[in-house]
Amino acid sequence: MTKKRWTTSWRIITASAALMLFTQAPLASAEDLSELKNEKQQIEKKKNDLDATIQKKSDQLQANVEKQQAAVEKIQALTVQIAETNDKLFKLNQEITDTNQEIEELAASIAELERKIEERNELLAERARAVQARGQVSYIDVLLSSSSFVDFIDRFTAVNTLIDADHKIIEEQEADRARLEVEKAEIEKRKRELESKKAEVERLKATLAEQKAEQDRQIAALEEAEAKLKKEKQLLEVEHEDAVSLSEELQNKIVAEQQRMAEIARQQAAKAAAAQQQRQAAPSGGVSDSAVSVPLPSTSAGTWTRPSSGPITSNHGWRNIGEGDEYHYGLDIGSAYGSAVVAAADGVVSHAAPLSTYGNLIMITHSIDGQIYTTVYAHLSGFNVSQGQTVTKGQQIGSVGSTGRSTGPHLHFELHTGAWQGQRVNNINPMYYIPF
Ligand SMILES: [Zn+2]
Repeated sequence: MTKKRWTTSWRIITASAALMLFTQAPLASAEDLSELKNEKQQIEKKKNDLDATIQKKSDQLQANVEKQQAAVEKIQALTVQIAETNDKLFKLNQEITDTNQEIEELAASIAELERKIEERNELLAERARAVQARGQVSYIDVLLSSSSFVDFIDRFTAVNTLIDADHKIIEEQEADRARLEVEKAEIEKRKRELESKKAEVERLKATLAEQKAEQDRQIAALEEAEAKLKKEKQLLEVEHEDAVSLSEELQNKIVAEQQRMAEIARQQAAKAAAAQQQRQAAPSGGVSDSAVSVPLPSTSAGTWTRPSSGPITSNHGWRNIGEGDEYHYGLDIGSAYGSAVVAAADGVVSHAAPLSTYGNLIMITHSIDGQIYTTVYAHLSGFNVSQGQTVTKGQQIGSVGSTGRSTGPHLHFELHTGAWQGQRVNNINPMYYIPF
């Protein structure tokens, strides 16, 4: 027995101690039967509790899966929104590029106009210089040199026409330039608006990305919780299976117990005589029952002998094999699969059948110097004896195996004073009695 879960299973077995009452007093039968029924009710209650707990885990798993589904849907919606935002950004960038193009074109037009105005100014200046150079005259000179009033009017009109024409051209050009400046200012304003919109969309995109990351984190956490719930549910289901099989066993035992009680009464009466006969007939440590020839552990002198050869791999008492402190009610003896398991002392086989997590189990009831002892041999691969059979110290009763809840071939051996009433009752350290 090497798992913590054992402890729980063992507790069930311990609770159902009454089913294995190898008592020597058949008078206790009715009482034991009611106790068995009681234990069965407890097992049924445990089974129902487990059913409810498993249902709860299932509900939690369902809720978890639904949350994951919701998160996946959110992520899908966010992904669509992010794609839309990217599309918007692409379009805005396109608009900004176009606007920049317009601004550049307008700037070019303005530069062209400015160049033209400059040219015109140059032209006017040149014309003025030409007039002066031709006759060293200015507009004033032209006017002052009039020969008559009519001539003056003619000259005045001509000069004015010249000035007006120049002014008109300049004004038109200035107006064009002003118009272009306004247009440019408007477009620049539009560009600033576009850029502000772009910044806003980029902020939205960042927010969406953050929301998506949050959903991703939630899914990861939910998946972790789901794995944990599944594992917990699995463990509960194993426990539930144990409870169910034990419950069925108890049902059968209740029926069998009535017959067994009568049988024990006869058995006990015959026991003393039979044991006496056996001692007279066989010299010592008879092995004739064994069909397969395997080496037996050397038999110690005295009342007790070790039940199997091989090292003790786990002692009696408190131990921690990595899953917290637990009490080990027996000794584990590491032996190869199929190695001989022998009776630790003379006695009567009081149980030889599988029992729940013990696997194939033999119990021997010993009567030594007026004291009853029970030895327990668990996880056997097979039986060499059957219930009710008288055995002698060192006689092979079975073979080392790994049946029941066991992680590898070994013999789990327990010693109890009195008839067996459950693992925890009257459980003693075999080392106090048996020379290992
Ligand atoms: Zn053990």
